[in-house]
Amino acid sequence: MCTNHITVAGIREVSLVDMIGHPCYVIWLPGCNFKCPWCQNTHVVEGRTVIEVSIEELRRELEEASKIVDYIHITGGEPTLHPALLSKIFSIAKDVGLKCSVDTNGSNPKVIKDLIAKGLLDHVAIDLKSSPYRQENLSIVAGIPRESVRDVWKRIILTLNYSCRNGLEVEARTTFVPGLLSLEDILDVGRWLKEEFGEYKIIYVIQQFNPSPTVRDPNFRRVKPTPRSILLDAGLKVKELYGLNVYIRLIEETLKL
Ligand code: SF4
Repeated sequence: MCTNHITVAGIREVSLVDMIGHPCYVIWLPGCNFKCPWCQNTHVVEGRTVIEVSIEELRRELEEASKIVDYIHITGGEPTLHPALLSKIFSIAKDVGLKCSVDTNGSNPKVIKDLIAKGLLDHVAIDLKSSPYRQENLSIVAGIPRESVRDVWKRIILTLNYSCRNGLEVEARTTFVPGLLSLEDILDVGRWLKEEFGEYKIIYVIQQFNPSPTVRDPNFRRVKPTPRSILLDAGLKVKELYGLNVYIRLIEETLKL
């Protein structure tokens, strides 16, 4: 990477859908250390789209964006695979008055800790891809080796801990992938969030799986998305039982319960 330029996988200047409650400027970074078979961003993960932007151009764009959005949100792929790039982009964003958000699978708590220590992080969206009470299922849902599952869960929990204890806004997200998760898993995630992080204001977002043409495993491109009524029922149960602030992110819209 030339120091005057950065390479990213995509940019959207204004998004109303990537963060709950915040319009944001979004940057996608390539690569990921998970191999979720249902991943909807394979083109990003595999770096098939590449955009080179000069630092001056990025600064100008972020200055312009700061007139209409309050956040920059960096997603992927797994953005924490690029700690130096994250710091660089977030530093520019802070210079022009934007708040900073990262979307992560939670597997790199040290990167999150370092960004927090540098004052470069205000919001984190973290995936809870399966039930913390059935940790082994993460191996199938995230496509990671069975022997690394316990270590990965420890890292995810550390990421949540750092984020909550340092006063970040936190969105925990579960994509309901039919065939890989049950509705009981969703209730489990809600119960676990209440038990472990109930003292913090976490938003829990249940996401409808989108069988788009960019899904990694062709078998999952044929999976039908779960009907909204079923996701709404599950979300309402989580809200009633555990008092969480729940959103349902459907393919066409996001609903607050
Ligand atoms: S869905 Fe899985 S494979 Fe795809 S970017 Fe997220 S963590 Fe990586």
